[in-house]
Amino acid sequence: MKRISILGATGSVGQSTADVIASARGRFEVVALTANRDSEKLAAMAVSLGARHAVVADEAAFDDLKARLSGTGITCAAGADALVQAASVPVDITMAAIVGMAGLRPLMAAIAGGGAVAIANKEPLVAAGRLVMKAARQSGAKILPVDSEHNAIFQVFDHARPEGISRIILTASGGPFLGWSAADMARATPAQAVAHPNWSMGAKISVDSATMMNKALEIIEAHYLFSMPSEKIDVLIHPQSVVHSMVEYRDGSVLAQLGAPDMRTPIAFALGWPERIDTPGRRLDLQALSDLTFASPDKEKFPALPMAYACLASGPAACVAFNAANEVAVAGFLAGRLGFSEISRIVARAVESDLSGDVETLDGICDFDNTVRQTVKSYIIGNEGAFAKKG
Ligand code: NDP
Repeated sequence: MKRISILGATGSVGQSTADVIASARGRFEVVALTANRDSEKLAAMAVSLGARHAVVADEAAFDDLKARLSGTGITCAAGADALVQAASVPVDITMAAIVGMAGLRPLMAAIAGGGAVAIANKEPLVAAGRLVMKAARQSGAKILPVDSEHNAIFQVFDHARPEGISRIILTASGGPFLGWSAADMARATPAQAVAHPNWSMGAKISVDSATMMNKALEIIEAHYLFSMPSEKIDVLIHPQSVVHSMVEYRDGSVLAQLGAPDMRTPIAFALGWPERIDTPGRRLDLQALSDLTFASPDKEKFPALPMAYACLASGPAACVAFNAANEVAVAGFLAGRLGFSEISRIVARAVESDLSGDVETLDGICDFDNTVRQTVKSYIIGNEGAFAKKG
């Protein structure tokens, strides 16, 4: 039996993880489950998965969680520190599936424990990739990518001989606005932006897919996960989401991982690693595939992609600013305060401005991330001078 904790259990990836665990009866013992404030869903999951401990980040949700778990023997707690403590309880594998930078400290706590860590939560890797990978080397924690593209690369990557690899190719569905004009995209509503054609996901990553910020974040994520220089990371539009990504070798061989667009497959890969386990996920029907297409992305319509390469060239502070500005802008768009095209414009303003901070320590990164967020919020409410111009 593998002991497992799920951080962000009530979200889209958390629920798919619960599905995989439920269908693999006898393989996993659930230790801790966490959520932000959805105490109802968290309590139900804790009971059905037989978890030992349930934690909400939002202290206002504690009383409800406690009442729902009363008499079950499942202990509960609330608050940011309690979340970090839950992530620190020794397990064989942790699923890191919180959305955004809120997942950074729990992720670092899980890594410090030395068990394997399956990472879906890409934002901490983007903003603190060096620290995350260094901590894993120090504790011996095995990092297993769950993002379908990075999971695909992990599966076909020659980890023993990376010098034979000439490039990695991330595939991108192109999101719901692939064929849209820039003018139509500018008028896109939150409901249209979260309606992804192939994947069912949480709201933030769905908007990120529509702006292609998601692919931009993934370029940076791949850089840290696979120690790949940015010039060896390419993106191809592949609207069918069947080829999840590819690795090209020096001799011209291209190895790809294929599968139905169902997160339960990469999740099962990570949870079972190094073994393969069954999943309730959809199977790929190869005979039903009439068309697999690949095309270069339109970098003018989706400026997030060149921004990711510019951030990697600029250094870790730009990556922190890129992620933080995007999180704030996406929240503003979902709340109806910003137009869709303003997301990319605001993120560009943030990374082009004179923002600098300590990115060598966890506290430094959290402080700098917070500074960028405050600056972007100030800009959104009309403070044109919020961003200082570079040099
Ligand atoms: P969801 O929005 O569906 O779920 C997010 C989870 O994080 C929920 O459990 C939520 O709790 C919790 N959470 C939110 N805010 C906080 C906070 N401040 N503190 C603690 N917990 C918090 O997200 P997804 O499952 O879609 O995505 C999770 C991560 O995985 C993201 O980083 C995303 O980019 C990545 N990812 C997702 C994929 C997908 O298919 N969904 C695919 C690949 C990567 P509550 O329910 O209480 O709000």
